[in-house]
Amino acid sequence: LAKQDGRNRVQVFQASIYEAVDRRIAMENELHKALAKNQMKLHYQLQFDRHYRPVAVEALCRWDHPEWGEISPATFIPIAEESGIIIELGKQVLQNAVEEIHQLNQQLHPDHRIRLSVNVSPQQLEHPGFLKIIESLCEKHELPPGFLMLEITENTFMSDLNSMVDLINQLLEMGIYTSLDDFGTGFSSLSYLKRLPIHELKIDTSFISELEHNHDDVVLVKSILAIGQHYRLQVVAEGVELRHHLLLLKTYGCDLFQGSLFARPMIADKLEDFILEQHRRLQDPSFDITRSI
Ligand code: C2E
Ligand code: MG
Ligand code: MG
Ligand code: MG
Repeated sequence: LAKQDGRNRVQVFQASIYEAVDRRIAMENELHKALAKNQMKLHYQLQFDRHYRPVAVEALCRWDHPEWGEISPATFIPIAEESGIIIELGKQVLQNAVEEIHQLNQQLHPDHRIRLSVNVSPQQLEHPGFLKIIESLCEKHELPPGFLMLEITENTFMSDLNSMVDLINQLLEMGIYTSLDDFGTGFSSLSYLKRLPIHELKIDTSFISELEHNHDDVVLVKSILAIGQHYRLQVVAEGVELRHHLLLLKTYGCDLFQGSLFARPMIADKLEDFILEQHRRLQDPSFDITRSI
C-alpha cells in the first residue's frame, strides 16, 4: 500500500510539473500577443521630497489579460526575462514612459516638472542594442540631464563589474542616471559601491513595512542612509504606507519617499491633476500637510 501511495504521489508531482510548464508556455505566447496588440500599460507612482513636493515617478508595467485578468509584474517579468521577450517589452516600456512623462512635463510649470525612473532588467543592459535605444530617445526628445533614471537591481552587475562601470559611464555621458533598486536584498559585497558611478539607492519595501516595531530593520535602514550620505547618493524609501514610517524615515534623514501613503501607481492622464493639486495644497498657508498625510 505504501508503495502504491508513493507512486501516486510521483504521478501527482509529475502532473503538476507538466501543468506548470504548460502554463509558462501559454504565458509566453500571451506575452508575445500582448506586446503585438499593445496590451501592456504603464502606471506611474510618484516620489515626494521632504517637503512633500512631487519630484519624480517610477514607471511600473501592468498587464490586464483579456481572460486571465491582471497579472502581477512579479509573475510575468521573470518569464519575459527568461524567454527573451523582455528585450522588446523593455524597449516599449522605455519608449512609452519617456514619451508620456516628457509630454506631461510640457504641460507643467517648469518648476513642477518631474523626473522619470524606469526599471531595466539585466538582459536589457547586456543586449547590444541597449545604448542605441537610449541614445535615440535622448535625441528624439532632447531629454535634459538627470531626467531619466534607470533602476537596476543589485545582482545585475555582479557578473562583470568592469563592464557595468563602463556602461553606467556611457549612460552618464548621455545624462542618464542609475539607481540601485531593492538595495540590501541581494547577496553582494558592498565594495562595488566605491566603483559604480550611480546616483541613487532605493530602500526595499521589506525593510520599511515593519519599521515601527522591528529594530533590525531600523538598523538596516539607518545603515543604508549612512552609506548613501557617505557616497553622496540620494536615497528613496519605497513602500511607505504609514505616517509613522514617514516620520521615522524623515528623522533618519531620508530624502525621498514612494508609497501608498502618498500616491498609488496611476495612469499618466491622472498625474497632471494630482501634481497640480499637491502644489496647490502646499501653497495654501492654512493647510497643514503633516496632518493630512
Ligand atoms: P520595484 O521596482 O521594486 O517596484 C516597487 C513595487 O512596490 C511596485 O510593485 C509598487 O507597486 C509596489 N509598491 C509601491 N508602493 C507600495 C506600498 O506602499 N506598499 C507596498 N506593499 N507596495 C508598494 P509592482 O508594480 O507590482 O512591481 C513589482 C516589480 O516588478 C517591480 O519592483 C520591478 O522589479 C518589476 N517591474 C515592474 N515594471 C517593470 C518593468 O517595466 N520592467 C522591469 N524590468 N521590471 C518591472
Ligand atoms: Mg523599481
Ligand atoms: Mg525591482
Ligand atoms: Mg524596489
